[in-house]
Amino acid sequence: MFRDPGIETLGRADLERLQLSRLQALVARLHERVPFYRERFAEAGVTAASIKSLADLRRLPFTTSADLRDTYPAGLLAVPMDEALRLHTSSGTTGRPKALFFSPRDVDNAAELCARSFVATGLTARDVLQNMMTYGLFTGALVAHYGAEKIGCLVIPAGPGNSEKQLALMQDFGTTAVHLTPSFALYFADFLDGKGPEARKPLKLRRAFVGAEPYSVKTRDKIEQALGVEVFNSYGLSEMNGPGVAFECEKRAGMHLWEDHFILEVIDPKTEAPLPDGESGELVLTTLCREAMPLVRYRTRDITSVVPGPCACRRTHRRLARITGRADDMLIVRGVNVYPQQIEHVLMAIPQVGRNYLILLEGRDDMTVQAELAHGESEMNEEQRVLLESEIAARLRSEILTKPKVKLLPPASLPASEGKAKRVIDRRTL
Ligand code: ADP
Ligand code: ZN
Repeated sequence: MFRDPGIETLGRADLERLQLSRLQALVARLHERVPFYRERFAEAGVTAASIKSLADLRRLPFTTSADLRDTYPAGLLAVPMDEALRLHTSSGTTGRPKALFFSPRDVDNAAELCARSFVATGLTARDVLQNMMTYGLFTGALVAHYGAEKIGCLVIPAGPGNSEKQLALMQDFGTTAVHLTPSFALYFADFLDGKGPEARKPLKLRRAFVGAEPYSVKTRDKIEQALGVEVFNSYGLSEMNGPGVAFECEKRAGMHLWEDHFILEVIDPKTEAPLPDGESGELVLTTLCREAMPLVRYRTRDITSVVPGPCACRRTHRRLARITGRADDMLIVRGVNVYPQQIEHVLMAIPQVGRNYLILLEGRDDMTVQAELAHGESEMNEEQRVLLESEIAARLRSEILTKPKVKLLPPASLPASEGKAKRVIDRRTL
């Protein structure tokens, strides 16, 4: 199963040597097989021979999501089409979907990295994993499914939605771990709350693998409390296999990015200059092992930083801090940069606020934050509600530097989301 258990604790010098030789091979292979990269490399004046150290990575051109769309469907394929084994697309949260091909080895590696990640959280063959991600073109469910099977877990391919059925599965088969998006986790937590404490009693849940969307620490805490689990942050993207790119280990102090498979950079998205550990910028990833569709210096648009120093678990692969959002998610409201996650952070810290919210942008630049009240708060009177709304508006003002309107709604009145949530509706007429 695990081909090389020593890889997770390999010394930095050896790890970097491995990265360099894989990078050199990658550049040579792309030069030979993918006209798109041959041209880009020529423009940048680089060949495989010019990659002498990892620092030479910076001489290579970036690849953007626009490049993936421009070469859609198969312009970046590095193997003959009949050698490709599987197709996934990105879920298209932003813009048109992208097509991603997997060779047999890519399929196996993707599962391997997920298995490695799960094991790092303490998961074993005795666990029962209920996979509540969407099965289909989205990588989230399938890749994790095969990863957990590699460990020998009993995997329940539940998919999202249908909370009654999810609960029945958990009760009947003793589910110990769930894999789901933060928005569905919050929704399911709400559903469990509605059921009362009896429904929770027979559950054996211990771990939740939560990812595919940004979420705040407060949201994580809410999920942990409601489901009685430890949450492990899971980061991945279809362009890099899907889930299993970076994952929290049992120490839960940042997500180890598996550096034998990917080279990570954090750059200033405007100047493209590299940023030191601890500084927040755009994550850029280079695939080292992908066969069907390798990508060089892929601009993920995800905003994060490298957690400085080593992890207490002894793994040598560096850690990413919680993703604070996507560069694409940034809203400019009245001239101020606002990330939806900042709003979420404030809302989730307020006990009377429930788990679902929506940010509406209308008119010339008017922001309204709609938030559901928590279950126990539905009796709140008008006066109390107005008071709380203005208190929340004031707290938001100090976090995002612009004061939105706040509207508190009865529990369960906003549309529920099972997969990736749509938190922002922008109808501005600017
Ligand atoms: P799409 O770009 O259509 O959403 P994917 O399904 O491949 O395509 O989603 C990958 C994206 O999901 C990442 O680039 C990132 O923005 C987001 N994401 C995945 N995991 C996490 C996580 N743990 N925290 C924050 N964001 C995440
Ligand atoms: Zn660790």
